[in-house]
Amino acid sequence: MVHVVSDTQPTIDAALDGTTVRRWIRESADVFSSQRDYLTQLDAAIGDADHGVNMHRGFTAVMARITGVEEATPGQLLRIAGRTFVSTVGGAAGPLYGTAFLQAGEALGDHETFGPRLLGDALRASLEGVQRVGAASVGDKTMVDALTPALSAYELELRMGGSLETAASGAREAAAEGMRGTIPLQARKGRASYLGPRSVGHQDPGATSTALMFAALEQAVLADRSQRFAGGARRPVSGS
Ligand SMILES: [Mg+2]
Repeated sequence: MVHVVSDTQPTIDAALDGTTVRRWIRESADVFSSQRDYLTQLDAAIGDADHGVNMHRGFTAVMARITGVEEATPGQLLRIAGRTFVSTVGGAAGPLYGTAFLQAGEALGDHETFGPRLLGDALRASLEGVQRVGAASVGDKTMVDALTPALSAYELELRMGGSLETAASGAREAAAEGMRGTIPLQARKGRASYLGPRSVGHQDPGATSTALMFAALEQAVLADRSQRFAGGARRPVSGS
């Protein structure tokens, strides 16, 4: 896979690094802890009621594994997250999210820092990996219905001259809209597809977890920015 790496020289507005990725993972771990039961309820309606537990278990394991690797690059952190999901999470979520993280980590290579466009490349690699593993298209009532519009909104905002922060916000909004858009759909992939027309009227749990991850990404990006404004050139707060 060829990625155009055009912005690995960060500006002060655009520098993403291992701290950003750790924040994203921590925000995600927090959100899947608080939303675990909600996701399980969604999955109980049209699946097997394990999605909340699976995502929570995955992020708990990822948090434990990245704690001991302080020198890891952003790409290494995401590859650790991917391998952890593949090896510890059951159901469809393990291979799908595992692939998403692994592909994002591959796209980032071993750069210490990266910019908004390379983040976009990583998100696109995630989407392509998920579609390869899950063979799902937009409209099938899966996580692809949140991930695809989120990526489109992110890329559009950057093309229009927006900042990393506005692109992350646009992606979060589009993911949430895509998530809500799964409610009237009939599932064509995964366990929910066994229900046929009875899957209509329920929000897809996978699209929901993807929307939660984009909300976590926005939080991580905004926290990065406020730290830059507040802290100037000081070292990051320990453990943040
Ligand atoms: Mg399930």
